[in-house]
Amino acid sequence: MTVLVKPKPIEGQKVRAFQMLIDGKWVDSAEGRTIERVAPGHGVVVSRYQAGTKADAEKAIAAARRAFDEGTWPRMTASQRSLVLLRAADIIAERADELAYLDAIESGKPISQAKGELGGAADIWRYAAALARDLHGESYNTLGDGTLGVVLREAIGVVSIITPWNFPFLIVSQKLPFALAAGCTTVVKPSELTSASTLLLGEILEAAGVPAGVVNIITGTGPEVGAPMTTHPDVDMVSFTGSTGVGRLTMANAAQTLKKVSLELGGKNPQIVFPDANLDEFIDAAVFGAYFNAGECCNAGSRLILHRDIADEVTRRIAELSAKVKVGDPLNPETQVGAIITPQHLEKIASYVSAASKDGAAVAHGGTALDLGMGQFMAPTILSSVRPDMAVAREEVFGPVLSVLTFETTEEAIGIANAIDYGLSAGVWSRDFDTCLTIGRRVRAGTIWMNTFMDGASELPFGGYRQSGLGRELGRHSVEDYTETKTLNMHMGPRTG
Ligand code: NAD
Repeated sequence: MTVLVKPKPIEGQKVRAFQMLIDGKWVDSAEGRTIERVAPGHGVVVSRYQAGTKADAEKAIAAARRAFDEGTWPRMTASQRSLVLLRAADIIAERADELAYLDAIESGKPISQAKGELGGAADIWRYAAALARDLHGESYNTLGDGTLGVVLREAIGVVSIITPWNFPFLIVSQKLPFALAAGCTTVVKPSELTSASTLLLGEILEAAGVPAGVVNIITGTGPEVGAPMTTHPDVDMVSFTGSTGVGRLTMANAAQTLKKVSLELGGKNPQIVFPDANLDEFIDAAVFGAYFNAGECCNAGSRLILHRDIADEVTRRIAELSAKVKVGDPLNPETQVGAIITPQHLEKIASYVSAASKDGAAVAHGGTALDLGMGQFMAPTILSSVRPDMAVAREEVFGPVLSVLTFETTEEAIGIANAIDYGLSAGVWSRDFDTCLTIGRRVRAGTIWMNTFMDGASELPFGGYRQSGLGRELGRHSVEDYTETKTLNMHMGPRTG
């Protein structure tokens, strides 16, 4: 059983039409084509975006290049840039409900969760505003008399920012304010499934005082408008969040002109649980970690690696709690798990479950799509008796599907955790400090949670090992990512020797 929250028709339903922001003007695409977005929880068209083309991408890149080369934004004082970012944060906070509504309706995530993400996003803009004023280089007075070495940090130039659909406003907020803090100019492309909140951000940045051409926002498909953003010689850096496959393509494209790349990609994150763990706390965190954002989350704790002695009890208790999770209408404040992004993606999730069942896994809860009269939904699903070699244990399902694997020794647990291509995050649950620290040091992932899961803060760097990505976002070094270092080697007086 699953608690169902049947979607109601959207109150005052209308189709919102959007343009693109290029060089300070709101414009249609060069070819006048549009993309319609069907709300995943309601099955009706809610947004119409411009289907941008290569020509539109080129216009946006030219605007960003001009804005950078003219230098108004990069040469502004850091305190002026910081004030603009603070104003943007204030407007984001003021318009948070509107932005959260757009994210919920277009991505299918629960409205309560979308509001939480907006609070986090406003905090990130404030943090970036603070970092803008602390961007500094180094100087060396140790190079000998008459010589001074100064290392400057300069904005890298034009940055292409490409984002996915699962956290539309949060992810653009993990990139754009830091690029702006460094003095870069940008071309931003949100996912063609969830572009609305990013377009609204364009309005917010205009109101906050970002000059024309500094932030250009274009919409359309990856191959049409995303690809030119990764190949164009006038772009200096690509900051990409999305699937590992497109990340790999992005890096290859960027290599043509040797652009810097920052990649935040997929994950298949283990939670390792020892018998001495506080199981009440863990079970709650396991359900949250697996079903948050309907499991459409790079950080989903989708692989439980349970000690054999507690596996049966824990699986049973997680199944009991899963049955209480409220699934359904993204716009209902009670909903905990919303809709699945597209019908095709729902099919893909269901096919992972049926392949695992054929391979010998047992369905401890859920396992099927849910018919709620409109939209597309998946039951929170737990698979037990999963072996490490099964696709469901190695690949990103990107749905509310939890795989349970077991271990006997710490070495075995570490081996299972590390034996996949991803390394984004992991969790360890034990009351023993040595056990937590051993897992913390030996599991190869960018974040290791100990006796908690999925907490984050603007101050903490986030990113992946191996095929989960390249580079880190957030944290105090995040502004430096959008800079080049320049050495000034200065000589005073006559040169000798
Ligand atoms: P995706 O890779 O399909 O698309 C991401 C973005 O890339 C979209 O804007 C898309 O239009 C664009 N794109 C597609 N083809 C392109 C091309 N040829 N050139 C340039 N751009 C192109 O990913 P998605 O389905 O939108 O998002 C889900 C994926 O994102 C998952 O794998 C998830 O793990 C990952 N993700 C990672 C993080 C992280 O921080 N590590 C966060 C969120 C999502």
